[in-house]
Amino acid sequence: MRILRHVSELTWPTDKVGFVPTMGAFHDGHLSLMRTAKNDCGYCVASLFVNPTQFGPNEDFAKYPRNEERDFELAESAGVDAIFAPDREEVYRDSETMVKVSGVADGFEGAIRPGHFDGVATVVAKLFGMVRPSDAYFGLKDYQQCRVIASMVKDLFIPVSLHFRDTVRESNGLAMSSRNAYLLGEERDKAAEIYRTLVFVKDHICSGKEIQQAVEEGKARLTGFGFDVQYLAAVNNHMRAIEKSEPDSRLVVAAKLGSVRLIDNIALL
Ligand code: AMP
Repeated sequence: MRILRHVSELTWPTDKVGFVPTMGAFHDGHLSLMRTAKNDCGYCVASLFVNPTQFGPNEDFAKYPRNEERDFELAESAGVDAIFAPDREEVYRDSETMVKVSGVADGFEGAIRPGHFDGVATVVAKLFGMVRPSDAYFGLKDYQQCRVIASMVKDLFIPVSLHFRDTVRESNGLAMSSRNAYLLGEERDKAAEIYRTLVFVKDHICSGKEIQQAVEEGKARLTGFGFDVQYLAAVNNHMRAIEKSEPDSRLVVAAKLGSVRLIDNIALL
């Protein structure tokens, strides 16, 4: 596996390049995207860059889990051909441009984490410009991020095919996340209540309950387990809250367990 630090090194032996952007601390969610990219495209490039511009001033940029050596080994085992791990200067030196997506980026994560999606859209646009992949792979775990990137790619006519893949979960249902490393002991089990609550709300809606009522019951369920619920809602693929199911609608949730903030989502139908 090639380890690349500079934009000038990003040359590929083929036009079909499957790209997986990441912030590292790899788990099976990341590795399954890499395996899929390799399998679909024949050549897989991953990036590892903890992007400072997508963290708010009081967020966990400084303590975000970092372990390059381990990540390089895991990426290689997943079939990655080249990993791009630039430093901040390589990506942001003399940078004067930010990409701002509105609409899909405004609510939910965008409302709670102001500026977050500007940072995400900017770094993904930069990485697309640097890596020039034919295909790019993202996890539906970060559903709103997928919608933001889809809008950006469409609106800026960026020549890349996007692939959004299902969330990889622990055996108890907890969505894998680099931030799960912050969960201590029993919190890891309790954190699975997020997923169980999504399934609970979905089951109630599928058996005929009004969306709004099912959502309220879901919030009460999570609160009862000790979560601080930031949002729980049914949304369409424009990230608008809906009261009746539509094709492609999803249930999205963000909740804090102690100081650990968790997000998850599932398809509604
Ligand atoms: P991150 O390193 O957290 O920025 O994530 C890099 C990519 O992996 C993003 O496209 C995420 O949506 C995706 N990802 C993170 N967790 C999971 C998961 N549990 N299942 C599938 N994809 C994931």
